[in-house]
Amino acid sequence: MFKAIYLTKGEDGSTVASVKDLNESDLPVVEGGVTVAVDYSTINFKDGLAITGKSPVVRKFPMVAGIDFCGVVKESDHPRWKAGDQVILNGWGVGESHWGGLSQCARVSGDWLISKPSSLSPKDCMSIGTAGYTAMLCVLALERSGVSPNDGEVLVTGASGGVGSFAISILSSLGYQVVASTGKKDEHQFLTSLGAKEVIDRELLSVAGKPLQKERWAGVVDTVGSHTLANACASTKYGGVVTACGLAGGMDLPLTVAPFILRGVSLIGVDSVMASKEVRENAWSRLGNDLKLSVISQIAKVVDLQCAISTGGDILKGVIRGRVVVDVNK
Ligand code: NDP
Repeated sequence: MFKAIYLTKGEDGSTVASVKDLNESDLPVVEGGVTVAVDYSTINFKDGLAITGKSPVVRKFPMVAGIDFCGVVKESDHPRWKAGDQVILNGWGVGESHWGGLSQCARVSGDWLISKPSSLSPKDCMSIGTAGYTAMLCVLALERSGVSPNDGEVLVTGASGGVGSFAISILSSLGYQVVASTGKKDEHQFLTSLGAKEVIDRELLSVAGKPLQKERWAGVVDTVGSHTLANACASTKYGGVVTACGLAGGMDLPLTVAPFILRGVSLIGVDSVMASKEVRENAWSRLGNDLKLSVISQIAKVVDLQCAISTGGDILKGVIRGRVVVDVNK
């Protein structure tokens, strides 16, 4: 038997989340499947949507929640993995259309797993989770586009959230001048301690602005979307690069082509869910090398499986600072 956050549909169509005892024989049958004893999972924004049912991210019920996990292989039908290997899973529809990682045990395709970097503990890996891995994908996109620390300020929006916190700490450790945009007035000190050189109020960006504004950003990591992303593009410097990975403020994008055709600004979309194995391995290797371990513990707090259910609601309200790790065996 093992415990997991189990999602069902109530009679009124609402999602019901509970901690349930399950048997290993309940786990899905997968070709090239690997059974993993999970050490840690985490609560991402998407897990909040799944647990509360606020958005239809769960494609079939019953579902075990959790888009991330880190653990040890128990059994493997996949040539790349053997019992005892330490592995990470991020995305691939796990926790949405395939049983997920907010569980003491998971079975997934071996193609979806990558090795845990040796410099990071299982808890570190889930403190980072999909949020930190996505932050690294954004930083890699800025680097690939030639944005360097000497080019000027880099804006990070949704700064106190999971992606935002890790984006600040990765960028600042690489020498970038980071400006953090937040709605949380009492978290300025936290954001400065992660490496932000300036903190601005998110209201400056979240209302409709002019199509072209004063040029400020060499690069942007945007987790918010909507007017925030539009204003970020409108105030990016000539030839600058904006990476878009989130929709915490809305899915719309009310902007004009002016920043692109008059200033040569690039807008790059970042997806973590279906990224290739090579892209993931590179991002996790960079996380293992570039992140200061002291920063990881500063960003994350730990809860148990029961508490993770209410955290799912809190993350959607935007009241969580940094990241929440789930010790599934607590
Ligand atoms: P969090 O909830 O941890 O952080 C989101 C932050 O956005 C909040 O902490 C808050 O920061 C800010 N925020 C919340 N609501 C609003 C609002 N209405 N207007 C403006 N800002 C708001 O989520 P994550 O960091 O984990 O994820 C951020 C976004 O990125 C989500 O939309 C998520 O779905 C997406 N994402 C996408 C991935 C991909 O593969 N493309 C992977 C991972 C995440 P503050 O108070 O500091 O302003």
